Amino acid sequence: MAKRDYYEILDVARDASEADIKKAYRRVAMKYHPDRNPDDASAEEKFKEASEAYEVLSDADKRAAYDRYGHDAVSGAGAGFGGAGGGAFSDIFGDVFGDIFGGGGRGRGGPARGSDLRYDLELDLEEAVRGTTTTIRVPTLVGCEECDGSGAKKGSKPLTCGTCGGVGQVRMSQGFFQVQQTCPQCRGRGVLISDPCEKCHGHGVREETRTLSVKVPAGVDNGDRIRLSGEGEAGPAGGPSGDLFVQIHVREHNIFQRDGRNLYCEVPISFVDAALGGELEVPTLGGKVKLKVPPETQTGRLFRLRGKGVTSVRGGGPGDLLCRVVVETPINLSARQKELLKELQGDLAGKNSPRQTNWFEGVKKFFDGFTA
Ligand SMILES: [Zn+2]
Ligand SMILES: [Zn+2]
Repeated sequence: MAKRDYYEILDVARDASEADIKKAYRRVAMKYHPDRNPDDASAEEKFKEASEAYEVLSDADKRAAYDRYGHDAVSGAGAGFGGAGGGAFSDIFGDVFGDIFGGGGRGRGGPARGSDLRYDLELDLEEAVRGTTTTIRVPTLVGCEECDGSGAKKGSKPLTCGTCGGVGQVRMSQGFFQVQQTCPQCRGRGVLISDPCEKCHGHGVREETRTLSVKVPAGVDNGDRIRLSGEGEAGPAGGPSGDLFVQIHVREHNIFQRDGRNLYCEVPISFVDAALGGELEVPTLGGKVKLKVPPETQTGRLFRLRGKGVTSVRGGGPGDLLCRVVVETPINLSARQKELLKELQGDLAGKNSPRQTNWFEGVKKFFDGFTA
């Protein structure tokens, strides 16, 4: 059969722009769309013809080849339409009709994909930092093994739904627009089952609690998601499974707070060590390390231990551990200790308390400002 010229099919000039071609295809395809012309073979033929023309003319390379060599150069284009290569169709379809029919949807025919699932996984900070393998139990829908997910009793076959032609969706006119709705006859499954499978009562899926092993990579943090492809709910009527998303929640740690790659912790220090300087033992996730504290260390001072933080799951080097020293006031003092402190108190002068001195000077200036 001789093929019509693609430009003629879409009724556009040979130098038409990409946008013009898209517009023209949309016009022709809308006119001959099978949903608008049920049981009209010639309309369907024209619709296919237009889709094939659009597939070639919307692709700059294919269009150039077609312009130079004609149909032979692009033979095979559109051949998959309605057949094996249905993917090409849904791409075009989504592209041109996406804004009208609500996105590419799930293409033409074929059972729906199962739902994605979410599992909230709580981890200790150590587990999140080092990585772990854990077992989770997920209630989910799995394909029925008795009927291979078809929902039809062994030996029988589901029938393609006549109302929606197996698409699972019907288009209804609402004034000027068309809206897509789940087919009321087959409830979106695209098939009808006259003789349901006894095990799953025709659903093709059944509930099951599945035990899954989850490998948590080292360095994950709050809010990270691990995707387990195909571990979501099985699709109805043998459709592909959705994905399972494992959402990470890291429990609060009693020593460390994490901020990205850095860890923070507070280290109490006696005022004697703070005054004279000394060596503190501070915890890290890899064990204890020594931290040298210089004399005259004030409370709240932050010490950075490089490389003692966390390596992110996204890579890069490890962050730092930031230790904030907090000078502690001694309690449960004996009479002798109190005596010693009092003695020290009498001996300490203004120059021993730099912050206090500054503060008193500030207060003095403040009040002087009133009298001036
Ligand atoms: Zn079954
Ligand atoms: Zn239907």
